[in-house]
Amino acid sequence: MSRPAKVNINLTALRKNFSRVKNLAPKSSILSVVKADAYGHGLSRVAETLQQSDAFGVACVEEAIELRDAGVDRPILLLEGPFTFEELTLVAALKLDIVVHHAEQIKMIERFQSDYQIPVWLKIDTGMHRLGFDVGSIKQVHEKLLSLKNIKDEIVLMSHYADAANPDASITKTQSTKFQELTQNLSCKRSMCNSAGIINQSNSHYDYVRPGLMLYGVSPINNKVSSDFDLTPVMSLHSELIAIKSVNKGDTVGYGATWRCPEDMPVGIVAIGYGDGYPRHAKSGTPVMINGLQAQLIGHPSMDMITVDLRGISGAKIGDPVELWGDNLPVELVAKHAETIAYELLSGVHKRLNVNIYDED
Ligand SMILES: *Cc1c(COP(=O)(O)O)cnc(C)c1O
Repeated sequence: MSRPAKVNINLTALRKNFSRVKNLAPKSSILSVVKADAYGHGLSRVAETLQQSDAFGVACVEEAIELRDAGVDRPILLLEGPFTFEELTLVAALKLDIVVHHAEQIKMIERFQSDYQIPVWLKIDTGMHRLGFDVGSIKQVHEKLLSLKNIKDEIVLMSHYADAANPDASITKTQSTKFQELTQNLSCKRSMCNSAGIINQSNSHYDYVRPGLMLYGVSPINNKVSSDFDLTPVMSLHSELIAIKSVNKGDTVGYGATWRCPEDMPVGIVAIGYGDGYPRHAKSGTPVMINGLQAQLIGHPSMDMITVDLRGISGAKIGDPVELWGDNLPVELVAKHAETIAYELLSGVHKRLNVNIYDED
């Protein structure tokens, strides 16, 4: 008997979300962000489904190799650029685009001998203070890059919003203005928006948008869920009830003996745990769907199991289906109960799980 924990991936929903991005940013090219195994959805399967993408964004050369091996011939952008000089050989062999965010990377490119003209995305730090050149140095860096012979002369200028998920963030306006002012007189293509920016910064869609999270059908805006933006969840996480027991009033459930039964009650055991990517920090009270009815997590998740309150789930029996997140239970909500974000839950789903692929087309 195989373990009932499984992850469903709905490729029809993925295509639908891609169309949503196109509708929201009709004039922009789309760079689909597929780093971290496409946010846990399977890198090559997502890229194959989103073949209409104008480009793909990945975090490392290994991910780019997987895409090229899967036959992806579109541009692939290394979002953090090369980490070492040696990687430039692979950049040339795989014909990758690179982000350049640091002077060290320019030195590497200067030393590199190749016929390949590397397409470069020059990253500007407009306020995120993670990657990118300071605003004041951009003109000089841009000229320097143009003087290098192994760089393609059409440089894309890019920056990244620090808090676009929060519609009230004042830093967003500051970043948007900085980027606009700095780039308006350089005849370059431009890119500024992740998913949250695509939704609430339509004035900065520019030439390329860079959706990640929204492609996977999750709200990129704080305190909203996918349906608020007509997005459809691509991943759902399922398992089954594998045991039911009656626990007495006053007895505790699970590791740490933290959750105490307020009355004699039925407790369900579900085959899912942090070893699968279910969050260890999910609090008692986190919603769990059992047989289509909403129940609650009680006690701490274990590695392979969680415990749920079955009061109110009448007729529950072993083998009943359980949804941990997906179509009927927004992953945004589960993330909130675990004091994290949907990004972490999706990208943390473990490869040991069985995968079911849905595709209506
Ligand atoms: C990950 C990433 C994105 C995608 O962000 P989402 O919030 O998932 O849409 C866009 N741009 C860059 C530079 C990234 O690293």
